[in-house]
Amino acid sequence: MDIDIQLTRNPKSKPDPETLEFGKIFTDHMFIAEYEEGKGWYKAEILPYAPLELDPSIMALHYAQSVFEGLKCYRAADGRLLLFRPEMNFKRMNRSDERLCIPYIDEDFALRALMELLKTDKDWVPSLDGTSLYIRPFVFATERALGVHPSRQYKFMIILSPVGAYYKEGLNPVRIVIEDEYVRSVRGGIGFTKGAANYAISLKGQEKAQANGFTQVLWLDGVERKYIEEVGTMNVFFKINGEVVTPMLSGSILPGVTRDSVIQLIKSRGIPLSERRISVDELLDAQENGRLEEGFGSGTAAVISPIGSLSRKGREFVIAGGGIGELSRGLYEQLTGIQYGRLPDPFGWVREVV
Ligand SMILES: *Cc1c(COP(=O)(O)O)cnc(C)c1O
Repeated sequence: MDIDIQLTRNPKSKPDPETLEFGKIFTDHMFIAEYEEGKGWYKAEILPYAPLELDPSIMALHYAQSVFEGLKCYRAADGRLLLFRPEMNFKRMNRSDERLCIPYIDEDFALRALMELLKTDKDWVPSLDGTSLYIRPFVFATERALGVHPSRQYKFMIILSPVGAYYKEGLNPVRIVIEDEYVRSVRGGIGFTKGAANYAISLKGQEKAQANGFTQVLWLDGVERKYIEEVGTMNVFFKINGEVVTPMLSGSILPGVTRDSVIQLIKSRGIPLSERRISVDELLDAQENGRLEEGFGSGTAAVISPIGSLSRKGREFVIAGGGIGELSRGLYEQLTGIQYGRLPDPFGWVREVV
């Protein structure tokens, strides 16, 4: 499929990289392709960034047939533009799509569309330390119909947003609260997808946590309310007595690209790691017995987010003295070093935008 490119006649002025926030400013162009049953994906275009005109009855708005992805483009010190394992994101987008009855999108085509869009808006990739260009691919149902059935029409789009450094004053440990009332997902549901509905369902717990002075929620499994799943919108790792433990992928957990990368890096350091079920009681027991060495979340936005404390029913369990563990810091330095092209890339994860 060819991609038609229509360049803007009114380029916007670039934001001050010092004051960038997350996802508030968008670049000059967007990618958009259409799908229709019987015809497949067609009309792939790069257009000036602009609002869409949509019928009020489109199915995505009513029944949440909508999926997204998130990755970043990094500017290396020598000016090259780098992506981190982007093929993993488009594979995962198709796994999400499959679960939500959204048609398959050729992964090579999606990556080519992204590369074209990045080349069009390459001047928007900021170069200040820690900044990047956040990439948001998404697919949503556009059939005009109120009957509940898989839509027969879709749009696949990519938009870009320059974002600031996640940690303005360096790595920062966060206070986490264990959520006992609400759940994010259950096995058999859509927890393993980046379906839009997963984020609507998590807002209430997040709001409650923040109202009580916590940064994020530690989600437990939706059936037994006993096993650890994720922290906010990040995967989670704990180092207990020399071994790193992370919840195994059971269908209710999002398979993070950062999670997969962290697992490989930890193994390459010769540190034992197991993917298994871990109960909140096991975790808090380890903390009380002095065996819980550190904990951190992993995700594209923060890369590594050290956990300073866990709270449950008003009791606070401090981890790593409330500071940043050695492993958390080491993984953060190594991953960001690979992403920005400062450190060797032994696993061949980085793709240059050319
Ligand atoms: C996106 C996401 C993650 C992290 O995935 P990455 O690919 O590492 O960015 C983890 N958990 C949830 C719920 C997510 O939505």
